[in-house]
Amino acid sequence: MELGIIAGSGIYAMQGFHIKEEREIVTPFGEPSDRYRIVEIEGIVTAFLNRHGPSHIIPPHMINYRANIWGFKELGVERIISISAVGGIADNMNPGDIVLPDQIIDITSGRSSTFYDGPEVVHIDFTEPYCLEMRDAIIKAGLKAGVLLIDKGTYICTNGPRLESRAEIKAYRALGAHVVGMTGMPEACLSRELGLCFAGLSVITNYAAGIGKARLTTTEVLETMRGSTSRLKSLLKEACLLIPQKRSCACKDVLKEAKMSD
Ligand SMILES: [Zn+2]
Repeated sequence: MELGIIAGSGIYAMQGFHIKEEREIVTPFGEPSDRYRIVEIEGIVTAFLNRHGPSHIIPPHMINYRANIWGFKELGVERIISISAVGGIADNMNPGDIVLPDQIIDITSGRSSTFYDGPEVVHIDFTEPYCLEMRDAIIKAGLKAGVLLIDKGTYICTNGPRLESRAEIKAYRALGAHVVGMTGMPEACLSRELGLCFAGLSVITNYAAGIGKARLTTTEVLETMRGSTSRLKSLLKEACLLIPQKRSCACKDVLKEAKMSD
């Protein structure tokens, strides 16, 4: 298994990719959100997981992130692309745009966000939260597929499930956040802890609170996400061809100098 794809709101089945097999996995951390669906994209065997479970029944704060990421590792996946719906905060972030974030701010709470609860103490390097090699390949994939991509941006992860207040978004903007979502963390750091490469593809489905004039609705989120499906698929197909077979990034070696305990 070479690639893992986590799909979020509005993009559940990735229609058009032929499902070869379904794998049900139970991990030491419990059950993942759904069965992993094995598809082949441009010859690359890919495990596909619905983050919110079958028919969107698991809210962001209740997702078993550890089980989801562990399941990929167990399937032999080395790289994960995480697709999510986000709200646009910065001026150049408009509904329908696809963003490849390069930084992340985590303000979630109460989530199990590490595999190391002791006695083994591990502090992974998270200076670059997203795999640089994957980012590079996805940027090239965007150019090749003719899919417009905003190739950097800071993703701030809130706990949800409620949306944000106008003052919160103003504060996040001042902190340097460009988009706001509810699932980017702990997916990114859990992947890093297992030595997996991780990249995010965030579709801006709406303006964040106080940025646009209209009240935010989930209908808007789902419709914009659906409208982005074909662009996402072209991007994924091209990325599958461009992501190098062999990893030469630092992700796989992250644990070498991260352990504090013996
Ligand atoms: Zn990597």
